[in-house]
Amino acid sequence: MAEKKEDIKDLSLDELKSRIRSLNEPPYRAEQVFEWIYKKGARSFGSMTDLPAKLRDYFTNKFFITGPEIIKKQVSRSDGTRKYLFKLNDGETVEGVLIPAKDRQTICLSSQAGCAFGCYFCASGLLGFKRDLRCGEILDQALAIQDDIGEAKAPAGSKGPAGSKRITNVVMMGTGEPLTNYDNVIKAIGIMNSPQGLGIGARKITVSTAGYIPGMKRYMQEKGQFELSVSLHAADDIKRSRLMPINKKYPLSELIAVCREYTKEKGRIITFEYILIKDVNSSPTDAQNLAKLLKGLNCKVNLIPFNAVPDFKFAPPSNKDVENFQEILEKAGISSTIRSQRGADIDAACGQLRLREAEEEKC
Ligand code: SF4
Repeated sequence: MAEKKEDIKDLSLDELKSRIRSLNEPPYRAEQVFEWIYKKGARSFGSMTDLPAKLRDYFTNKFFITGPEIIKKQVSRSDGTRKYLFKLNDGETVEGVLIPAKDRQTICLSSQAGCAFGCYFCASGLLGFKRDLRCGEILDQALAIQDDIGEAKAPAGSKGPAGSKRITNVVMMGTGEPLTNYDNVIKAIGIMNSPQGLGIGARKITVSTAGYIPGMKRYMQEKGQFELSVSLHAADDIKRSRLMPINKKYPLSELIAVCREYTKEKGRIITFEYILIKDVNSSPTDAQNLAKLLKGLNCKVNLIPFNAVPDFKFAPPSNKDVENFQEILEKAGISSTIRSQRGADIDAACGQLRLREAEEEKC
């Protein structure tokens, strides 16, 4: 039986170096392979012209580079947000998003196919959990988006063709809870950060958790300066447990205590995500409760008016309610920003494109 090939993108630089050493080849060859894949956009070992032919053959026989197929792509006409649906080798689908801005190209990546956490406002939870993504499958989303915006295909050392862009920021905020797929996510962000990988600064890479405390405690011990954001969405346990069932296991008192520990341990600010939903969590009392909960914590809050989607009964609050909410936080000394809705004309809410595809398959 033919040996199953491995995904080369499942290997860190150190792991690849040790494979190469075992072949009696110098470890710098690993750096060459990394640069071909992550910087020059090579999708075959045959094209790595500065590697000896026998090493190219070895890699071709043992590994594959190619990533998933993009089966759907939507581009927002209003702001250029691009949403991708990828089909993995086993037929599972995951989403990735590009959020372009004048000075940055942010990508939002998935860490799992489906999600076990079942937050009530999120389309990703509706189809349940399927499986963790491998490190290579997380990186594939970034590489496919990088290819799509152009820079990876540019000749080495050049700034790329006119209009080409580089990914500058990464948020692990797509489908799945990244901290329950810990090892794969940490390895993938390490490769994105590595100078031989995608070379994205650690402070431009954010892991977003729904409040999975065991993962947060591990993450706190990581050496890199990666960022952490926590999805809060309510400031009292009754409301939060209704919106995010994980709160029943890891209630707010424990979650906020770990957040305080994180900011002290790392000396870093923490970002809280707060989706504002009409008549659910956006009243002045909710804002006051939030201000009380976060008092003295080195943090900022992203206020995100709910993106109205057909599968959910929730609605966004009025602009006035959003402004009032922010004003209450500001008066209490809690820094916040209102995140404008991106890609409002496409299926931009988390998990929506994947859900739509599953519904179409059923029809
Ligand atoms: S919001 Fe995040 S944690 Fe909650 S169901 Fe969606 S993907 Fe899972």
